[in-house]
Amino acid sequence: MENNHIEKLFEHDARDRKEEGKLFKNDKEGFQKEKAPISVDSTNSWKVLLVDDEEDIHSVTRMALKGFAYQGKEIQFLHAYSGDEAKQLLPKHKDIALIFLDVVMETNHAGLDLVKHIRDVMKNHFTQIVLRTGYPGVAPEREVIAAYEINDYKTKTELTTFKLFTVTLASLRSYDSIMRLENLRHNLETIVKERTSELELKNVKIMEMDQMKTRFFSNVSHEFRTPLTLIIGPLEDLLVDKELTSNKKDTLEIMHRNALRILGLVNQLLDLAKIDAGSMKLSIIYNDLNKVLRLISGSFISMAERKKIKYTVDIPEEVMNCFFDRDKVEKILVNLLSNAFKFTPEHGEITCSVTSENRSNIDNQYIDLVVQDSGPGIPAEQLEKIFDRFYQVEDGWKKGTSGTGIGLSLTKELTVLMHGEIRVESNPEKGSRFILRLPVGKDHLKSKEYIIVEDEEIEGQSLYIKCNISENSQKIRDDTYETSYNNDRPIVLIVDDNQDIRHHIRESLVKDFTIKEAVNGKEGLEMAIDIVPDLLITDLMMPEMDGLELCRKLKTDERISHVPVVMLTAKAEAENKIEGLETGADDYITKPFNSKELIIRSKNLIEQRKKLKEKYNHQISLEVDESEIKSVDEKFLERARKIIEKNISDCSFDVNSFYPEMGMSRMQLFRKLKALVNQTPGELIRNLRLQRAAHLIKRNYGNVSEVTYEVGFNNLSYFAKCFKEKYGLLPSEYQKQTKM
Ligand code: ADP
Repeated sequence: MENNHIEKLFEHDARDRKEEGKLFKNDKEGFQKEKAPISVDSTNSWKVLLVDDEEDIHSVTRMALKGFAYQGKEIQFLHAYSGDEAKQLLPKHKDIALIFLDVVMETNHAGLDLVKHIRDVMKNHFTQIVLRTGYPGVAPEREVIAAYEINDYKTKTELTTFKLFTVTLASLRSYDSIMRLENLRHNLETIVKERTSELELKNVKIMEMDQMKTRFFSNVSHEFRTPLTLIIGPLEDLLVDKELTSNKKDTLEIMHRNALRILGLVNQLLDLAKIDAGSMKLSIIYNDLNKVLRLISGSFISMAERKKIKYTVDIPEEVMNCFFDRDKVEKILVNLLSNAFKFTPEHGEITCSVTSENRSNIDNQYIDLVVQDSGPGIPAEQLEKIFDRFYQVEDGWKKGTSGTGIGLSLTKELTVLMHGEIRVESNPEKGSRFILRLPVGKDHLKSKEYIIVEDEEIEGQSLYIKCNISENSQKIRDDTYETSYNNDRPIVLIVDDNQDIRHHIRESLVKDFTIKEAVNGKEGLEMAIDIVPDLLITDLMMPEMDGLELCRKLKTDERISHVPVVMLTAKAEAENKIEGLETGADDYITKPFNSKELIIRSKNLIEQRKKLKEKYNHQISLEVDESEIKSVDEKFLERARKIIEKNISDCSFDVNSFYPEMGMSRMQLFRKLKALVNQTPGELIRNLRLQRAAHLIKRNYGNVSEVTYEVGFNNLSYFAKCFKEKYGLLPSEYQKQTKM
């Protein structure tokens, strides 16, 4: 009776669990596809191990649990009659769900020994354990029950049929839940392992690619050096030729300077590659560090003079003989000073100071090096990033600089290599301050970190200095160059901050044009307004005002809006920046450009303007449909026409009263009208007067002398002469003809 009742209870329970099981299975489907879990469902029965030295207990237990089923699975009994027998059985049956274990068998604690073996040695924490004993006095301590995850403890007499059912049911439920969780954990672990190994594989591939890139990079850079050396060497030979004309010498110097510049950049790239490959060591010499520092900082004096910068060098006079890597110290200081000079505007201040801790042991010493400038500073949020490779402060180029973003990262990496520290303080109003602490000597270095090299002669400039500041050591020349003013030739205004580029363009165009030069957009705009050129060639990236802004301002300024603009761009800028930008430029030329192409394009633009002149010349008449006036130039012509018209009967109205009314200088008005309609202001006034005269004659305004005065002529015969020139007839003849 009791059994039936319980079995029903079990059946019901089993149904519920089956449903749960299904749900659970569905949830896991995703995992199962990837890896079949070790599932408790894979066996058709629950393995229950009975460990007892009394055969009776075995048979009673079997009998009591006869017909037991949980989740549709029955019990499969395993039997052991001693602890040792059980120990041998256990490894063969890893999926035992429950053990009924007699505490007292061959020894008093044989049962507990087995428990310890299962939990501690076999590390099995899944199998459920129910202890039984015929001697109530030998019950294990509570702590032991808790520590060894023992499910229940019963005296054998307590284990009635009913109690056996409940304890078995509860234990199998726990085992089932634990195994499900275990399966889940196992599946998740498998997935994590798989993903981790996938990632590791990817990582290895990325590293391999990275190494390949570095190798390629390094090989290519290296390959650049030979041809560059073969350019620089012969150029240096050519440059010593005393017979060279100054123009040729200038050109060769540009080539030399710029080849050195490329060499400098290539060497920087090679340094980065070496650092990446971990193959850069310190090459230390024993020499006077202060002298080397003075030599390096001294290389910037001529640049300071040229840029009108107050440059203070504060390096102790005393000799500081020690071990140091000259080459790296030089690279660091040259980079910091080059940046300071690059970013500090004219009349700014730069200080380079060195202090050293005066300790008795020179080998255990460091120097503090500070390079401070009064430049634009670095925004606080970007301070951290400026030492990152290829990082450039946003819009940095607008402030008037170009660069690669390599300098500071190289500086930092070299400093670290020397076990030094570098930091920067910057205040956008006051400028930047780079603070460097460099240990000197070799005591702080491990033997594999350095090699001692021959002490070289330290007089004179190293190749690194030549390559990196050669741009600045160029001869001080008249910054802006003007060819003699020749009225017949079109004026071309070149706006570029790079003196070499200006020189190159000037050399290309000087035969056909009168050349003017400006060093940035701001100066370019002022000069354009002043001289009203026939063509303006401008670089895109420039300090103070870039090419885009210059172009926009020019195109909206009535005085110079007609001037065609050629924008010079680097290829990458052309693709990235110009695309989609309405710059208003009339033509683009990408660098490097060919001189012939520049000449042809310049001539074409000037030629096109001539055609426009004819169009406007034709258009400028007294009958204008105002609704059609649109462009700045058309509006300008309309304003000029109205001013003349307003004063048309005033015979004293002439060029001298015309240009102030237009708000322009005499020269601006002259050049603008010449450029737009190919007429001088005087010619325009006379032409409009004559047009009005013809108009009045046609309308029978009065006799010729009345018309003459009405249109502001005060000399009848001069009027008649001019009229005939324009219309081919004398005014009286014209009058007769229109009457007919
Ligand atoms: P590059 O000068 O070739 O752009 P660097 O690595 O030398 O690259 O410098 C990174 C950036 O840090 C520069 O683009 C510039 O914006 C900023 N920077 C460096 N030195 C200074 C300085 N003295 N004053 C202002 N900004 C600076």
